[in-house]
Amino acid sequence: MSKSHTFIIVGASQAGGWVAKTLRKEGFDGKILLIGEEPYLPYERPPLSKDALLGKTDLESTFFWQPESYKDDDIDVLLNTRVIEIKRDTQSIICANGDVLNYDKLALTTGARVRCISIPGADLLGVHYLRNMDDTLAIRKSAEKKDTAIIIGGGWIGLECAATLDLLGCKPIVVEASQRLCGRAVTPNISNWMLSFHLNKGVDVRLNMGVERLEGDKFLQKAVLSDGTEISCSIAVVGIGVTPNVELAADSGLEVDNGIVVDDLSRTSDPNIFAAGDVANHPNQTLGRRIRLESWENAMNQGINAGKAMLDKGEAYNEIPWFWSDQFDANIQMIGLPTEWDETVIRGNKSENEFVEFYLKNKLIVGAIAINSTRDLRFGKRLMQAEKKVQATQLANTDIKMQSLLKV
Ligand code: NAP
Repeated sequence: MSKSHTFIIVGASQAGGWVAKTLRKEGFDGKILLIGEEPYLPYERPPLSKDALLGKTDLESTFFWQPESYKDDDIDVLLNTRVIEIKRDTQSIICANGDVLNYDKLALTTGARVRCISIPGADLLGVHYLRNMDDTLAIRKSAEKKDTAIIIGGGWIGLECAATLDLLGCKPIVVEASQRLCGRAVTPNISNWMLSFHLNKGVDVRLNMGVERLEGDKFLQKAVLSDGTEISCSIAVVGIGVTPNVELAADSGLEVDNGIVVDDLSRTSDPNIFAAGDVANHPNQTLGRRIRLESWENAMNQGINAGKAMLDKGEAYNEIPWFWSDQFDANIQMIGLPTEWDETVIRGNKSENEFVEFYLKNKLIVGAIAINSTRDLRFGKRLMQAEKKVQATQLANTDIKMQSLLKV
């Protein structure tokens, strides 16, 4: 690639930032333009529901790279800019302000947006979503009232917010539509553990429950649940999932199916356009199926993968999904996304909230969820990667070191 080439990245978040940084690291010496709709440089999202909400961290400390780092790498960053169209025939993009920019290669890292709830009162002041830094600051302001907070959705956002709002002196009530917590991500056993963990911390959790309507005069004052229960509250946080931002890709005729369809080199159906992060539906050899992952590690690794592939240096992307969450004093980590297993093994002490639950199929680890047990999970990931057969009795025996199982 020569100096005259221009690579554009649409989406200045984690995946987009990694595409830009990787291009330079891998020796691309053309023009790199990173375009983002938010007013901020790429920043970490995990603190949004935790330390940033607690007020323990400020915006600058969540930046992946400080402003001078972009200057050093000669990466142009265009913030507050919405791209509204891709013209594939002329290899150009059109911005909302009318600017037309030409690309030689394009990466789409447009991420996902929150799913909105459509119930009466959903637009009252005090009703929040959590996806970006401004959302966090708004929730933090509402939390100053230390009032009851209705959390709609018992997924990751809901549970992390419940824990943090509790620490901020609010009274969280989690309202989850299905019969278990984090049902899309974890197994029923772990959902049950999560339920007792949060109940023990004093969080009120209502399963199989919806919110019928929110009431108030401009400001939220009351939530009416689907069983008719009325709850006086001034804060609501809605965390009912996200939708990938595929419109730009779909409107330009790229293949889209629960995300932008890419191959294991992050290539879309157009050889000059790549996609990575929450928005990309990609094949995973280890899992044997296509997935679209909404996770921190995937945003980074796929961004790197796409950056290399844009320079024809790509390596097939095949990462075991890994994911973590912090709720009160529990660090929860997951590997794999198991759908089928024939053995479940617990290693550690469940009653002390320090254990790993492993899922085995034909003696191979196909996934695991760890509570406050990072080290064991790390070795579990290596066993899974190495496709080492393990005996359930050995895995359950904490006198046997995990690393010794790698040597068998
Ligand atoms: P989520 O994890 O998919 O959970 C949403 C939950 O809300 C689901 O349990 C869903 O149940 C429930 N729900 C849906 N509609 C509802 C309704 N009308 N009333 C009550 N409950 C309802 O999504 P999220 O918590 O909003 O998180 C958004 C994204 O951010 C996810 O991709 C998540 O992975 C990511 N995130 C990651 C972290 C982390 O890495 N630690 C932290 C926060 C967020 P059904 O499944 O039955 O629809």
